[in-house]
Amino acid sequence: MIILLFFLTHWYLSLFFQTFFLHRYTSHSMFKMNIFWERTFFFLTFLVQGSSFLQPAAYGEMHRKHHSFSDTNKDPHSPLWSKNIFSFMWKTFKEYRNLSTQFIDDVSKSSDLPRWKLIETLGESMIVRIFFVSFYSLLYWIYAPSFWFFLLIPFHIFMGPIHGFIVNWFGHKNGYRNHKELPDNSKNTLPIDLLMMGELYQNNHHKSPNKPKFSHRWFELDLGYLIMHLLHTLKVIRLV
Ligand SMILES: [Zn+2]
Ligand SMILES: [Zn+2]
Repeated sequence: MIILLFFLTHWYLSLFFQTFFLHRYTSHSMFKMNIFWERTFFFLTFLVQGSSFLQPAAYGEMHRKHHSFSDTNKDPHSPLWSKNIFSFMWKTFKEYRNLSTQFIDDVSKSSDLPRWKLIETLGESMIVRIFFVSFYSLLYWIYAPSFWFFLLIPFHIFMGPIHGFIVNWFGHKNGYRNHKELPDNSKNTLPIDLLMMGELYQNNHHKSPNKPKFSHRWFELDLGYLIMHLLHTLKVIRLV
C-alpha cells in the first residue's frame, strides 16, 4: 500500500512539475511569477524529478525546436522519424545531452529561460543522481510487500524521460485530431487525460502553443490548467 502510494505520488508530482514548470512556464511563458516563486518551483522540480532531473533551460530549448519543426526531420523527437522506441529515446537523449552540456558551460546562454547554476550542477551530478536512486531503492527495500514490486524502481529512476516518451511518442502517433488542418501528426491521445495532466492533448496544444488551456472540447479535461488556474487565483502566478 505504502509503495503504491509512493509510486502514484512520485508519478503525479514529477508530471506536474514537468508540465507546469518545464513545459508551460519555461518553454512557452504561459504565465509569469516573481523570482521567489520561480526559484521555489525550480528547486521543487529538482527535488521531485530527482535522479531524472531535466535542466529547465535545455528542456525549453529542445521543446521550442519541437514546435518549430514538429514531425519533420529536424524535430528532436518525432515518432515518424524513429524506427522504434529505443532509437527514439536515444535520439532524444543525445539532443538533450548536447544542449544540457552547452547550458552548464554557459550560464548566460538563452537568458530568457530560467537559469540556476547551483541546482543545474547539483541535478546533473552523478553523485546526486545515485543518491536519489539509493533513496528509491531503500524505500522499496523497506516497504515493498514482495520482490515483484522492485520492477517499479526503474520507473522512479527514469520518471522524467518516461513522461516525455509517453507524450512525444503517443501524442504524435495515436489518437484523434480536433484540428485536422495542422501539417504535423499531433494527436489527442486520450479524450479524458487523467494520466498525463493534459499533456496528451498534443493536437490541441500544437494548434495554439501558447494557450495555457490544452482542452478544447467539452469532454476534455486539462488537470494541469486547473492547477495553474488555482495558483493564479491565489496570486502565486499570473496567467498571461
Ligand atoms: Zn508535440
Ligand atoms: Zn509545447
